[in-house]
Amino acid sequence: MTDRSDCIFCRIADGAFGTDIVAENEHAVAFRDIQPQTPSHVLVVPRKHITGLRELEPEDGELTVGVLQLAREVARREGLLDGGYRVTTNDGADAGQTVFHLHFHVLGGRRLTEPLG
Ligand code: 5GP
Ligand code: ZN
Repeated sequence: MTDRSDCIFCRIADGAFGTDIVAENEHAVAFRDIQPQTPSHVLVVPRKHITGLRELEPEDGELTVGVLQLAREVARREGLLDGGYRVTTNDGADAGQTVFHLHFHVLGGRRLTEPLG
């Protein structure tokens, strides 16, 4: 299992690379995806290292709310509330997960015609 020292998103959340932080709260940090798929494409990650949705524990309830509230705040700051936006997470290989630290994609800024995330 990946731990904080070799997890790219833990390191970004810790400020290791000077990545521009779009928004943050007690539980989560948001930054722009390095390969944006939409005009606005921001990743929201919990500060705590969790490999994916499957690893979420019952005691992570406050963290989960904090992550989703930050996703919504990102959408507001990006001006997406009127037009609409999508929040997705990929859990596991078949879903296309490539970074094994739980993250939610906040996607918007164009019409999302793809039927799936
Ligand atoms: P996944 O495929 O796991 O759902 O999403 C991982 C996302 O992280 C991809 O969209 C990818 O472009 C993004 N990503 C991977 N490495 C980095 C990085 O070092 N910095 C940033 N900002 N995004 C990254
Ligand atoms: Zn991590």
